[in-house]
Amino acid sequence: MNEIEAAADMIIQAKRLVVFTGAGMSTESGISDFRSPGGVWSRFDSSEFTFQKFLASEEGRERYWAFSSSSWGEMVKAKPNPGHDAIAELDRLGRLDCVITQNIDSLHQRSGIPEAKVIELHGTAWWVNCLECGQRYPREQIQERLKGGVKVPRCDSCGGIMKPATISFGQAMPERETRQAETKAAACDLFLVAGSSLVVYPAAQMPLIAKENGARLIIINLTPTPHDSHADITIHDKIGPALSQIVERVKALS
Ligand code: ZN
Repeated sequence: MNEIEAAADMIIQAKRLVVFTGAGMSTESGISDFRSPGGVWSRFDSSEFTFQKFLASEEGRERYWAFSSSSWGEMVKAKPNPGHDAIAELDRLGRLDCVITQNIDSLHQRSGIPEAKVIELHGTAWWVNCLECGQRYPREQIQERLKGGVKVPRCDSCGGIMKPATISFGQAMPERETRQAETKAAACDLFLVAGSSLVVYPAAQMPLIAKENGARLIIINLTPTPHDSHADITIHDKIGPALSQIVERVKALS
């Protein structure tokens, strides 16, 4: 039996499958990876875009919004790829407990997975939050203002500082989502990693929580991860083709 077949078997046997996705999932939709060599942070200085710099000055906010608007252009154009579709298919087959993702592009929801089943650990670029009063705005609406010449958008209700609903360097992880993800990881019996190099906290922690609580672990990533030795199956390949083949087989055997 090869890895694809073995992974399909594990999914069929699983009662609670949690899928964990990272940047490698979205690069196949044309979204730039931030941390990998050649990624966004090798072209931009990440220390210029910390949460502290954003809060500290109007100039810092202006720089942030200009930078963030360029990656927003990429995100609007991106469509779910065969990897996203394969996970959505698992959901339709009744085999998906939830997706935990480090990605901020909301492509899982756009591939048809219900909002309530997607835990976004690093937030989403599709919404903008007022940091003072908590009011949320659709990102498109705020981008229109920027296009119209506004450099630093302000909240309509309170005039407060607004920021995309993503987690920046130096910003605390969202408590609710982090706790939810840990609970889901602990309760599952199969944890499938797709496209995460598993080096950033809390991503790095999740497979270990699953393993310590008796789950099996599948890791699909183009390059080796620090947790490959804990995995029951590792597949070093592109996510879309690998997941599509696995899910085809799950369907055929179901
Ligand atoms: Zn406000």
